[in-house]
Amino acid sequence: MAAIPTALYPVPAQAKEPETPPERVPAASEKLLAAKNVTLEYRTRERIVRATHDVSFDVYDGDRFVLLGPSGCGKSTLLKAVAGFIEPVAGSIELDGEVVRGPGADRIVVFQEFDQLPPWKTVLQNVAFPLRVARKMGRAEARERALHYLDKVGLARFADAYPHTLSGGMKQRVAIARALAMQPRVLLMDEPFAALDALTRRRMQEELLRLWDEAKLTLLFVTHSIEEALIVGNRILLLTPHPGRVRAELNSHQYTQDSTGRYEFQQSVARIHRLLFEEEIAR
Ligand code: ADP
Ligand code: MG
Repeated sequence: MAAIPTALYPVPAQAKEPETPPERVPAASEKLLAAKNVTLEYRTRERIVRATHDVSFDVYDGDRFVLLGPSGCGKSTLLKAVAGFIEPVAGSIELDGEVVRGPGADRIVVFQEFDQLPPWKTVLQNVAFPLRVARKMGRAEARERALHYLDKVGLARFADAYPHTLSGGMKQRVAIARALAMQPRVLLMDEPFAALDALTRRRMQEELLRLWDEAKLTLLFVTHSIEEALIVGNRILLLTPHPGRVRAELNSHQYTQDSTGRYEFQQSVARIHRLLFEEEIAR
């Protein structure tokens, strides 16, 4: 089981979760990403769909920041905006103090779909190719780095396999290795484990926490699963249903997979559920 990764947040395990945007826990790290009053829209021929409204959040170096909300609340859209694929109609997104104006190798996305790997490339080629193109590495160097990260996700033995011969979980590991090999400033993950069976999903969550600890990653992780948000995240931004607005921000650094059976964990699940659904209906 992964060690409890709380090093950056030396807060007692019993610390009470604040109700509204919390005072930040001791500033051990730098602000990396800032979303300021971000409104995102899609323009179709018939109408304008507002995906998020006035969403603000800050991600600090070393955070495991989770965007949590029901399907359709704009989580993927927010992630795409951070990745630089869509531009806000209002507000801004800044990385290291610079406004995000397009995609860049400092932000790599891992998606939910198993088909994000070109099927005509081997596992090794899948991981090495972006290093050659985006990082301008030579063949030998790219190969070496690719093998290093494949080893990190336990797939070094499958370097010469083709994606179609791998299970869903293994494909996701390749996608994660490919992203890690690029050494992005922030790793963006859009429900990366949602299509996996429950056991594999648990194992992958555990592995991700281990990788986060080893590689000192910063994660921006999207999920609609409250349990997953509590396990994976150290901070959680709750979004309301369509269009997504900020409902609350919570600390969740005290939970790991070992917590799931505990009363305190279940209380947090129930409280988030209330915040997301019941109070929304009441209003
Ligand atoms: P989530 O990831 O939280 O499930 P999305 O970000 O995918 O939500 O979608 C937010 C809203 O934007 C939804 O109402 C969805 O229908 C709409 N939407 C998403 N993609 C498009 C698109 N390409 N064109 C028009 N509307 C879209
Ligand atoms: Mg989505």
